[in-house]
Amino acid sequence: MAFPGMLARETSGGLPGGFAIIMSFMQVAILSIGDELVLGQTLDTNSAFLSQQLAERGIMTLFHQTVADDLPVMVRMIQQATEQVDVIIITGGLGPTDDDLTRQALAQAMNVELVLDEDSLHAIDNMFARRGKPTPDMNRVQAYHPVGSEMLPNDCGTAPGIVATLGRATIYVVPGVPSEMKRMWETSIEPQMRKLAATGRFLFTRKINTFGRGESAVAEQLGSLCDRDRNPMIGTTVADGIVSIRVRSEFDAAELAQLHLDQATEQIEQLLGDIVFGHDDQTIQQSLVELLMQQKRTLAVAESCTGGLIGQMLTEVPGASSVILGGWITYANEMKIQQLGVPAEAIAEYGAVSEEVVRAMVQGAQKRSGSDLAIAITGIAGPDGGTDDKPVGTVWVGLADGSDVITSHFIFNGNREVVRDRAAKTACQMLRLRLLGKDGLL
Ligand code: ATP
Ligand code: MG
Repeated sequence: MAFPGMLARETSGGLPGGFAIIMSFMQVAILSIGDELVLGQTLDTNSAFLSQQLAERGIMTLFHQTVADDLPVMVRMIQQATEQVDVIIITGGLGPTDDDLTRQALAQAMNVELVLDEDSLHAIDNMFARRGKPTPDMNRVQAYHPVGSEMLPNDCGTAPGIVATLGRATIYVVPGVPSEMKRMWETSIEPQMRKLAATGRFLFTRKINTFGRGESAVAEQLGSLCDRDRNPMIGTTVADGIVSIRVRSEFDAAELAQLHLDQATEQIEQLLGDIVFGHDDQTIQQSLVELLMQQKRTLAVAESCTGGLIGQMLTEVPGASSVILGGWITYANEMKIQQLGVPAEAIAEYGAVSEEVVRAMVQGAQKRSGSDLAIAITGIAGPDGGTDDKPVGTVWVGLADGSDVITSHFIFNGNREVVRDRAAKTACQMLRLRLLGKDGLL
């Protein structure tokens, strides 16, 4: 179970159309102290216990460190951990003997003196009194703590724990004895960390994915929504031709963060319209196949320069078999003629990369497969084959929907891989728009 108000942190990924996964922002380091641990005589079960407890609450342990009873090393480890995490839990070395150096190490790391805590001394005196003994001098040291820190009562041993703040980190120190450590986790650390987390802020993020317009055009359309000082903060990124709008909503209540995230999403989608094809990890082909499935319409493809890329993209979506009938890779002119019925004269007169040929390809694919819809692509992916008339990157996309045929011409910038990728995505987006009742032109 997660702490109710825990700080939030974005992790990679996210669910299609949903929120990014939220985890506690609190990061924890656990230091276990003791020669017997580094010598391998005692297994460090305390760290495992604490990390399991934290993980159950959605809190990430960043690292464990096992340190010998060595004052300078301990001081250094505490200081280093302080720079990396929000909470440090230290177990061990709080006992009364000379080799128990944790409280000194903490005081040195904090650059303060140790002071006597009268209440703790009384508690220790009482414990020994119950056993009918005076407090040994050695045990008095256990009532000392660094100036500025507080004691954590220990009701099942002599050594009280300590809680301190150093830099941005909260540091808990508890005895190494596993039963005492567990008891103090339950009675002190867990409840205190719950409170710390409850004062946190919530960060929800979403990615809104578009295809068909350049990043600067998208940013321009979003206008002042992209101002850096806004919350939710909105920015654009581009990867493989997909322009994504990242929304980051940070508030001190989860409901507020969610509300503002949803409102910003709606605003963005209204401004950008149908070029938005999905959220988070959703791909253009996923959203296309979903639409085909919803509308129960079948599709066939005829590919020249993309060489099966569209077929690959579409069939990678689970459930595609209910709507994707199949297709042709007609690379050579003869294949276009034989397999799709493209007139040889059209190729001779206009060339294989032409409106006439893509039209014949898409009609042939639709007719011969018996599909409701078809898409066809022919183009020059490069690096060779370009002319002044038809430079590298020239692509014709054809779309057949019933008896309607739409053709569209593009010149994509980039190498062979980029041209092929953009051509395939463009065909998918055109068909998506068509299924949404638009003319299907990008
Ligand atoms: P005490 O007041 O009992 O001396 P302490 O804080 O000094 O407590 P240590 O002396 O370091 O604790 O260890 C006490 C006992 O707990 C030892 O038996 C030790 O082996 C065990 N112990 C210490 N640290 C761990 C650990 N990380 N995992 C498992 N056992 C541990
Ligand atoms: Mg000890």
